[in-house]
Amino acid sequence: MEVIVNAIVLRAVDYKDSDKILTLYSLERGKITASIKGVKKSGAKLKFASEPFAFCEYVLAEKQGRYTVIGASYIDTFFSLRTNMLKYYASAVVGEALNRLTVENESDDGLFSLTINAIKKINYQDNELKSLAVFLISLTEIAGYKIQKASCVACGDDIEGRVFFSTKNAEFYCLSCRPDDAMEITIETYNALKTLTERGDGVDIMPSHLIKLLKFLFYYIEIKTETKLKSGTSLVDFIKYIM
Ligand SMILES: [Zn+2]
Repeated sequence: MEVIVNAIVLRAVDYKDSDKILTLYSLERGKITASIKGVKKSGAKLKFASEPFAFCEYVLAEKQGRYTVIGASYIDTFFSLRTNMLKYYASAVVGEALNRLTVENESDDGLFSLTINAIKKINYQDNELKSLAVFLISLTEIAGYKIQKASCVACGDDIEGRVFFSTKNAEFYCLSCRPDDAMEITIETYNALKTLTERGDGVDIMPSHLIKLLKFLFYYIEIKTETKLKSGTSLVDFIKYIM
């Protein structure tokens, strides 16, 4: 049976001599795994459709729940992701975090457009870190790990000075209300999160504060998924190198 899906490549792993196994995130079927044959041979017609973040209409052959790519046409090449390292690393985090926080065969229109919009912004605009942070905040919410409102959950005060965060319920606390299991985070992290969630991504945030917020979000996702977010580490290392 043939199936047509609009999908983006989250992950591509070499398989056998010249094939690849793709993790696709599709509008129609959510996350699916599909093999694509012969794409490592020179002149392979479908090579473009096996590149990370290729956004294509894929024609898949489905047999007993397994998919093979038999045709593809580009929707967007997202070319800058392949030529600009910061854009590449930022979009790699989008792909890895999405892969970690979703299960196969569950489609979600909202999450699909959130993902495509985040990749578009990273590719076409120059606020890569902010676009990534906004995406991760929404992704954790959709995945059932919403980070609670930026104020002390116990006394309701806006927090100034020292801030504490409990990963269990993703809640913030002031110094006087903090429970034993809450960890201290920086006020810059807290303020960057507060600005983005309350005022949207149109507001300027200092890059150094955004980096602190991203490290916090990576840590939080790692706790919730109990796996390392390798692309997050690569992005942080790369930023250190360029700044
Ligand atoms: Zn308090």
